[in-house]
Amino acid sequence: MKNIILTGDRPTGRLHLGHYVGSLKRRVELQNSGLYDEINILIADDQALTDNADNPDKIRDNIINVVLDYLSVGIDPEKTTICVQSALPALHALTFYYLNLVTTARLSRNPTVKAEIQMRGFADEGLPAGFFTYPVSQAADITAFDANVVPVGEDQLPMLEQAREIVEKFNKIYGETLVLPKAMIPENETQRRLPGVDGKAKMSKSLGNCIYLSDDAKTVKKQINGKMFTDPQHLQISDPGHTEGNVVFTYLDAFCTNAHFAEFLPDYANLEEMKEHYRRGGLGDGTCKKFLISILEETLSPIRAERARWESDIDAVYDILRAGTSKAVETTNATLARVRKAMRINYFEDRSIIRQWENLLKQTNV
Ligand code: ATP
Ligand code: MG
Repeated sequence: MKNIILTGDRPTGRLHLGHYVGSLKRRVELQNSGLYDEINILIADDQALTDNADNPDKIRDNIINVVLDYLSVGIDPEKTTICVQSALPALHALTFYYLNLVTTARLSRNPTVKAEIQMRGFADEGLPAGFFTYPVSQAADITAFDANVVPVGEDQLPMLEQAREIVEKFNKIYGETLVLPKAMIPENETQRRLPGVDGKAKMSKSLGNCIYLSDDAKTVKKQINGKMFTDPQHLQISDPGHTEGNVVFTYLDAFCTNAHFAEFLPDYANLEEMKEHYRRGGLGDGTCKKFLISILEETLSPIRAERARWESDIDAVYDILRAGTSKAVETTNATLARVRKAMRINYFEDRSIIRQWENLLKQTNV
């Protein structure tokens, strides 16, 4: 079996640090590992329209932002196919068939969709049917590329579970056709779901609590100094402090390595020693935040520089996206043809059906 990756993002805004630790960083490592036969990244504009139908320009504008974010973190179009969902008609057809393999009760139980319905106010305003069924379209995305590995943040686990159920059901009814996908989530627990700068459970474009990969150094500093709370009981530097539930330390859990101590804060050998000092008292919040800012700057400044380089050649970015999408049209059409054959609805590729129909008519006319 081939090793094929599919991941993606909704073009609802620029990408942020949550995307970086939850998914993007891993994608680049996997891309450069040479262990995969194919890596595909889907810009899920159709999915983004399920909760932004009244604002298509937002989606249109953010496609370029998302591609620029990919290129600036090190996604290499020579190794990775970047494509746009709405230009792949096979995905729409697959979604339509898969919708018959799930129940509305099962969709209602999906915990991520449930939380997102609350967050978007759909519980009161009415729930768009397209949004309710987007996990099914995600199953179409994954299976259309024959992906067996899907690197995502923790919030996507219920989607993968649902996709696996659809694959199993499809294969049971129509015969072994689709590849069973597996989620790949970060080992580091904080990276699986990075909280927002406000400490809310998830950094998310929709919650407005993000540090974007394209934010300048001044904005990053302002977000950390201005928005991140620490321990409300840690008033004086000498007071003992709590590191649990302290957003600055949560971010350090996600981003810092021992090398960062040698480079920026040589008083400690590692994060455990630093936390120990904070808990004991005597370590100020200012020092902790300054350390975090240095670490984030080390990550973000090369990303910013790469982005600036690509921003000066949008023609080239457009061509990358067009070439990736053309390739993906071929890949996903081939899967759709296989699916239609398995479902025995490939009438126009299968002239033997004429003889079958003739025989059938002969029998009934006797
Ligand atoms: P939206 O608010 O429009 O849903 P989002 O910020 O949740 O946007 P998505 O495009 O839905 O971003 O997510 C893309 C990928 O990034 C998914 O694999 C998701 O798991 C991952 N991801 C998003 N936010 C985080 C986060 N805070 N921590 C870890 N991973 C994340
Ligand atoms: Mg999301």
